[in-house]
This record gives sequence, structure tokens and C-alpha cells, in this order.
Amino acid sequence: MSERERTFVMVKPDGVKRGLIGEIVSRFEERGLKLVAGKFIEIPRDLAEEHYGEHEDKPFFEGLVDFITSGPVFAMVWEGGDATRQVRHMVGETDPAESPAGTIRGDLGLDLGRNVIHASDHEDPGSNEREIELFFDEAELIDYERPDEALLYE
Ligand code: GDP
Ligand code: MG
Repeated sequence: MSERERTFVMVKPDGVKRGLIGEIVSRFEERGLKLVAGKFIEIPRDLAEEHYGEHEDKPFFEGLVDFITSGPVFAMVWEGGDATRQVRHMVGETDPAESPAGTIRGDLGLDLGRNVIHASDHEDPGSNEREIELFFDEAELIDYERPDEALLYE
């Protein structure tokens, strides 16, 4: 098992409005990941533009920023062994149509532009810490023990 780390996850406005927060949180809890921060917010436009800065030259950028600021999101930080990669595997591919059943996007989404969830990218090292810092203050990240950690890790 690789090192414990923290990763940033967000239920997008489509997921929130479709009532999928609980379903999504449950999947990470049941997997054994530990919730260390969470908040229900409307993202200001400048924060959305910074968060998706890597896509600023793409044709879908304006639509993406419009959408992510169109309603509330549920932003979270999850901690666990190799958490960024594990979460991305659970999320599936960017396009729900390409995501296998059993993944969040494969089970809960249909369309590339309405894919329910954001998660930090394990292929972009440092994106997890960058995104956590963008959305949370240090004091909002809460340290505690999950009593089942002794059973989850060798
Ligand atoms: P992710 O890391 O899997 O979320 O994917 P990306 O970082 O590549 O893109 C960010 C988000 O932009 C995706 O989750 C999609 O919602 C959206 N997106 C990416 N590519 C496209 C596209 O070609 N068209 C549209 N409409 N949206 C896209
Ligand atoms: Mg991405």
C-alpha cells in the first residue's frame, strides 16, 4: 500500500441537484477513505476559473465555468492510502459514456459536460494539494482516527 495522502473531491451542481451527495459520500466511506473536510458552497467565478485554469484555452472552458458556478457544490477532502489514484479509479473516465459500470460516472452520469463529480488528477502530481489549498484553510482540515484503520491497512 502506498503512502497515506489527501485528495480533493467535489460533487458538481448536477450531482447536488440530483440528490447524489449521500450516494457519493457513502462510496468513499465504505471504501475506507477518511473524510477530513467538507463544505457546501457556491463557487465564486474567479475561484472556478483558477480551479480549471489548465483548461482556459479549451473551447469548453466558458461553459465549464458557467456550469460549475450555476449552483451549489459539495467540496471535500478525503484521506487514505494512495487516495488520489484510488478515488480517480472510483470516479471513472472523464466521459461517463467511457466509464465502466461500478464507477461513479459510469453508474450515475451520461454526458461529458454533466459528469457529476470532480476529483484531483493522479496524473498531475501536486494537483491534490493545490486544489485542497484553493478550497480549504488549514484549520478546516480535521485530524482524527477512524477506529477501523487497523483493519483497513496491513
Ligand atoms: P476530469 O479531470 O476527468 O474532470 O476531466 P478534465 O480535467 O479533462 O476536464 C474537466 C471537466 O471539463 C470535465 O470533468 C468535464 O466536465 C469538462 N470537459 C472536459 N472535456 C470536455 C469536452 O470536450 N467538452 C465539454 N463540454 N466538457 C468537457
Ligand atoms: Mg481534471
